[in-house]
Amino acid sequence: MAVVYQCRSCHDVLATFYKHDSRIMQSLSALTPDEAAEMVERRGDDLVVWVLCEHCQAAYEAHPELYELESPLQ
Ligand SMILES: [Zn+2]
Repeated sequence: MAVVYQCRSCHDVLATFYKHDSRIMQSLSALTPDEAAEMVERRGDDLVVWVLCEHCQAAYEAHPELYELESPLQ
C-alpha cells in the first residue's frame, strides 16, 4: 500500500510514500474530513493525494480564473 502525491492539474506524480512512513500518515490525519474528501482518493490498495505541483501552483497563482472553470465545486 502506497500514498501517491499526484498533481491534480498535470497529473505528474510528485512523490510516493509507504504506509510505514509515520510522517505521511501524520500529515494525512491532520487533514480535516472535508479536505480529505476533496484531496484523497482510494485507488486499489493505494491512496492518491491530489495536490498542485510547483509548476501548476505558479500557473494557478498567475491565472486563478483558468482553474476555477475546471473546479468540480459549483
Ligand atoms: Zn502540475
